[in-house]
Amino acid sequence: MLVKTVGLKEKYQLLINGEYTDSSNEQFFETHNPATGDVLARVAKATKEDVDRAVAAAKAAFDHGKWPKLTPLRRARVLNKIAEIMRERFNELVEAEVLNSGKTVAAAKGQISQAIEDFEFYAGAITTFGGRTNSVPNGFLNYTLKEPVGVCAQIIPWNYPLMMAAWKLAPALAAGCTIVLKPASYTPITAFILADICHEAGVPAGVLNVITGSGSEIGPYLTEHPNVDKVAFTGETETGKDIMSRASDTLKRVTLELGGKSPSIIFDDCDLDAAVTGSIFGIFYNTGQSCEARSRIFVHENIYDEFIAKFIEKAKKLKVGDPFNKETHMGALISKSHEETVDSYVKLAIEEGGTVLYGGKRPEGQEFENGYWYMPTIIGNITNKMRIAQEEVFGPVVVVMKFSDEAEVLEHANDSIFGLGSAVWTKDNGKAHRIAAGIRAGIVMINSPISAFPGTPFGGYKQSGFGRELSIETLDLYSETKSVISYIGAKPLNIFGI
Ligand code: NAP
Ligand code: MG
Repeated sequence: MLVKTVGLKEKYQLLINGEYTDSSNEQFFETHNPATGDVLARVAKATKEDVDRAVAAAKAAFDHGKWPKLTPLRRARVLNKIAEIMRERFNELVEAEVLNSGKTVAAAKGQISQAIEDFEFYAGAITTFGGRTNSVPNGFLNYTLKEPVGVCAQIIPWNYPLMMAAWKLAPALAAGCTIVLKPASYTPITAFILADICHEAGVPAGVLNVITGSGSEIGPYLTEHPNVDKVAFTGETETGKDIMSRASDTLKRVTLELGGKSPSIIFDDCDLDAAVTGSIFGIFYNTGQSCEARSRIFVHENIYDEFIAKFIEKAKKLKVGDPFNKETHMGALISKSHEETVDSYVKLAIEEGGTVLYGGKRPEGQEFENGYWYMPTIIGNITNKMRIAQEEVFGPVVVVMKFSDEAEVLEHANDSIFGLGSAVWTKDNGKAHRIAAGIRAGIVMINSPISAFPGTPFGGYKQSGFGRELSIETLDLYSETKSVISYIGAKPLNIFGI
């Protein structure tokens, strides 16, 4: 058991231009511990006026500040310093994240370790990122410059609070952008700690502003704001659609990391034990609250019964409960309303003709009296056309289906509005790579339960969004490319001949 020593503040204020401030109407909202329902702190509830102040600070820091004009090496030094301080304050970050999100200590440690590496990755990447030269015979020497895109509104979800903040902040800071970060209302605390760390490491005032408050109230205003150049959003597909339409009027650059219903394809020639434990992790990690959760499992008919038996046996071994207990595999769900949504999807699956093979309810026992919980849940007897196989549940609920051949399973796997993650389990190299080529998804895991690595692009096809995070490609999405065309011929050009 990790000792809960974290010193949370009683109230968290908006961070605008390097200073903490109440919202313009001095309103707050409460943030909770999802494992107990206890109130952890009060958090400032930003108004449109506060959005204006934060955007103005970011714009001034972009137009007149030194950050965008620093050499990449100097910015890299600050990013490395952020990583260093995050390591020093690792336990504090882990504990705050566990308290505010209900995720397990093990999950929080892994995610925060990766967040630290994201800053280190971009510190390195930005120093090799740049334009190219294009020498044209007959006197032109052209080159491109990569320039920061400007003021970025970065809006993030509650499922990986700190890691999503790092995925957004690290490339934007590296590229020289300035930022208004809007964490999810359920999980704002670690964003404030990270912002403190960024300032301590040398990010100048105004470069990173943090505003909290209702996304549906201030989000539209922020994403339409004329002084925002780019919106980077991670969250639900429906919110992403709203953001894209609002950003269109001023043609903002937009990147969207949205929902998923990722398939796992399990062939009869796989290492069955590895496929079973990998698929357990693939859906139940983070209590199923992962965008790339492998929530649709297709199993070859020859091994279906054996797979199901082993899958249920392993699911029974999952320990749900106190997120601070090192033995726990599944922590709490984020909220009461989310628990109700998850449960309503299980009821829907039953109405559609599905069979609950395991779980399908809140766990029982005294430790679950408070907080928001759900058992790992396995549903069989369904088809890919049913809503339970098509809609994102975003909880610990997986559907398992049977297939007989490669072409058929590929068609079903691709029959989804989403295209984020996917997994294939087989010892046949050729088959694995044929599936990898045929899947319409941004990520394909071959015999792997793990989906995200700094340096490896992460993002979706179809309605899972567009743009890539975690990679060199991301730097392009925080940059404009300027072509400088220079004539260096000896004779002046007179193309009209006049
Ligand atoms: P969400 O409800 O869409 O909210 C995400 C963020 O957007 C929150 O900060 C929210 O603020 C804000 N927001 C809400 N309405 C808005 C609006 N109209 N305009 C602008 N911002 C608005 O998503 P969520 O429930 O937090 O997160 C779960 C979703 O995230 C899932 O669908 C999951 O698949 C997706 N996700 C995707 C990835 C990926 O990489 N593809 C990664 C993680 C999660 P409030 O919190 O104040 O409502
Ligand atoms: Mg939501």
